[in-house]
Amino acid sequence: MDRIEIVQGDITKMETDAIVNAANNTLLGGGGVDGAIHRAAGPGLLEECRKLGGCETGGAKITKGYNLPAKYVIHTVGPVWHGGVTGEDELLASCYKNSLKLAVEHGIKTIAFPSISTGAYRFPVDRAARIAVREIVNFLKNDGNIEKVYIVCFDKRTREAYEKALEEIEKGG
Ligand code: ADP
Repeated sequence: MDRIEIVQGDITKMETDAIVNAANNTLLGGGGVDGAIHRAAGPGLLEECRKLGGCETGGAKITKGYNLPAKYVIHTVGPVWHGGVTGEDELLASCYKNSLKLAVEHGIKTIAFPSISTGAYRFPVDRAARIAVREIVNFLKNDGNIEKVYIVCFDKRTREAYEKALEEIEKGG
């Protein structure tokens, strides 16, 4: 699957058409990758986000990228991990599906995702990686618009989890 690439680094530096933000329901900024994206994008991003009226968990909304190299930011809200019994898997899958759908609607060809929900929201990274990779692979199978999806992992442990998940899917499992 050469349309998916796992990299380690800072998503705010990605020169893709869009980067995805692991936001919270308010869309008004927060810590982790959300804070980094708002800092790098500048105040215009928060101003536009204020007009969006928040976002439900599993949903996605789009803004411009302001001072980022990326033209757009797709804000999605991952689930908080509560032990896996409150629909977390399906909600996380929805984040990837809805973000990719929105990307296609806006003519986006290259997109970068962070590891949604595996920071402050405590979703187990191996499980999140399997869901993320499965959803991206399935989406790309049925879509000819998106040319490249990067998964940008901040640390080695996270990168290894996504690499393993991708290898397993490529082996057919
Ligand atoms: P969530 O609340 O969805 O768990 P976090 O931002 O707390 O979101 O964490 C999600 C992932 O993003 C974590 O793996 C974290 O290490 C990573 N992360 C933090 N900053 C960046 C960044 N600048 N670029 C890419 N990933 C980042």
